[in-house]
Amino acid sequence: MYCPRCGAEYHEGIESCADCRVALVEKRPTPAHDEAEWVDLITVLTTDEESQLKVVRSLLEAEGIPCYVQGEVAEETLPVGRLGVQVQVRPQDAESARELLAAKDLLFTGPDEPVEDDEA
Ligand SMILES: [Zn+2]
Repeated sequence: MYCPRCGAEYHEGIESCADCRVALVEKRPTPAHDEAEWVDLITVLTTDEESQLKVVRSLLEAEGIPCYVQGEVAEETLPVGRLGVQVQVRPQDAESARELLAAKDLLFTGPDEPVEDDEA
């Protein structure tokens, strides 16, 4: 038996986690291995244009490159204007993704950075 919250293992017969006070489950909760896979994502494009995002996504998918769009949710929940989204891929896909985008003139633009005057 396993605690679904903290993942602690308990002997058969125990029904709730002593720490979390939640009912145990029979299956070990799978640590989100999907997330681990995406730990070191590389941003290949930043855009605030939905049409461009769609193009990029379909391009990457057509090449079998899984991509993750960072910022989609934030865009909806944050009241502070449109932040733009970052299209991210796994490190091993970054090079081919960039080549793919470069070929379509969709180069990595990076997050907008304010131009600072360094005249101090
Ligand atoms: Zn627990």
